Amino acid sequence: MEREEFDVVVVGGGPGGATLAALVAMQGHRVLVLEKETFPRYQIGESLLPSTIHGVCKMIGVTDALAAAGFTHKKGGTFRWGAKPEPWTFSFSVSPKIASSTSYAYQVERSKFDKILLDNAVSKGAEVRFRTQVGDVIEEDGRVVGVTYSGEDGAERRAYARFVVDASGNGSRIYKRVGGTRVYSEFFRSLALFGYFEGGRRLPAPYSGNILSVAFNSGWFWYIPLSDTLTSVGAVVRRENAEKVQGDPEASLSALIDECPLIKDYLSGATRVTEGQYGQIRARKDYSYHQTTFWRPGFVLIGDAACFVDPVFSSGVHLATYSALLASRSINSALAGLVGEEEAFTEFEARYRREYGVFYEFLMSFYDMHRDEDSYFWSAKKVTHSGHTELESFVELVAGVSSSEFALRDAESAAVRMKDKSAEFAAAIDELAADREGNMAPLFKSSAVRQAMQEGAQVQSRAFLGEDLGPDVPMFPGGLVTSNDGLFWLPAKA
Ligand code: FAD
Repeated sequence: MEREEFDVVVVGGGPGGATLAALVAMQGHRVLVLEKETFPRYQIGESLLPSTIHGVCKMIGVTDALAAAGFTHKKGGTFRWGAKPEPWTFSFSVSPKIASSTSYAYQVERSKFDKILLDNAVSKGAEVRFRTQVGDVIEEDGRVVGVTYSGEDGAERRAYARFVVDASGNGSRIYKRVGGTRVYSEFFRSLALFGYFEGGRRLPAPYSGNILSVAFNSGWFWYIPLSDTLTSVGAVVRRENAEKVQGDPEASLSALIDECPLIKDYLSGATRVTEGQYGQIRARKDYSYHQTTFWRPGFVLIGDAACFVDPVFSSGVHLATYSALLASRSINSALAGLVGEEEAFTEFEARYRREYGVFYEFLMSFYDMHRDEDSYFWSAKKVTHSGHTELESFVELVAGVSSSEFALRDAESAAVRMKDKSAEFAAAIDELAADREGNMAPLFKSSAVRQAMQEGAQVQSRAFLGEDLGPDVPMFPGGLVTSNDGLFWLPAKA
């Protein structure tokens, strides 16, 4: 049989795979996406960030399709979190880095959102084969050169490519073939139990489309308005409360809702959806991890196949689409002969780890804010079994994260850095909660938030301004720069 050859084979057609496929196909390369389901299919991860919508999604050309889909506009987040009992709201519009016309994101039904992105990849020239499951990668002389897969007839087939991209999510079967190990986070060892409700209450305008996140003794709830009437509701509980999500899922979710007065109140007139894609109560566990290596010759991991950190700040789809953008730059630049493969993927990995690390640290700061003496929820003290204060324990814990990719190898300086960041962040939130005028600025004064928003805002600006943004500077000494259109890596000018 003839050998099937492509420039790129993408495993998985979720947001990561679909984004990468579009960006590579846009350069005229031959792209094959192998997806084990048929779309539309269910997926969790419904609350998005502005940089995904106005940055990466604009670059791949789905702005109009997303606007036409009628997704809920998310202006920001409303939290019952931290030491103060009152809910507080942050709005994307207060960040000076985000233009007012782009200061919103969407709450999406992933079945619809993911289909829009994958259809777009096809319209850009990628080929998608549904109901095809990838079993393994093919290696030749130490390089990954293709994959084996099987379709509905069960027969094993082979597809060869210059690059294979694993975008098959947290359940990837092939990620181990990149080398290294998947390290599960000790800090974010939680479980989630989630379902869907019709008729739940909405926050008052103009924040009715916000995600509502509510901390309670066993963990925290997300409450995401997917339409005027449909709400995604999920409880994230610490591993030590695991027994609360075992047994009958319906009874477990009800009991957790009973524990959290604000969510109980919002759902008081609502009924749980029991049919169709939202009819099931689902559970997920052990979902915060990172692979110690993201690429090897001919093979690269993006999205959840590479890493994921706790859903509290809706970073999953952002990291999946951002890593797709970074990897597509590496592939496009290597295929065009602009830079070598090693250089291109070293840049990809460094930037991706930096972004993941920023969110990881940011989320740790966020959890550290919950300093209610009666509640040990998320406390670092509990995790480390330390006799020190919670903040000290937290710092020890962070310093103990041994992976060099978080730049935490130097335990002492990392401890000081995180202690400052955490305290500063908590103070900004306290200030915000105390501010009755609705002034959101303090949150964005925090360096943790500024840093977390920085790269997303950069991607967004580039998508809008293109060449007007001016030349890029390397993010790392000796590293590469981004081309003006944001689609390639280039050597930095001496
Ligand atoms: P996926 O979306 O998982 O797509 C992978 C695709 O690969 C799937 O379509 C799958 O069918 C396919 N596939 C798998 N194996 C194979 C195979 N062997 N062969 C072929 N195809 C295959 N993120 C947010 O942004 N906002 C949120 O509010 C949010 N909430 C979350 C809540 C929870 C409890 C969890 C666990 C995660 C949440 N996330 C959230 C994260 C989000 O779900 C993921 O980060 C995101 O879906 C990752 O996208 P991806 O493209 O990497 O993978």
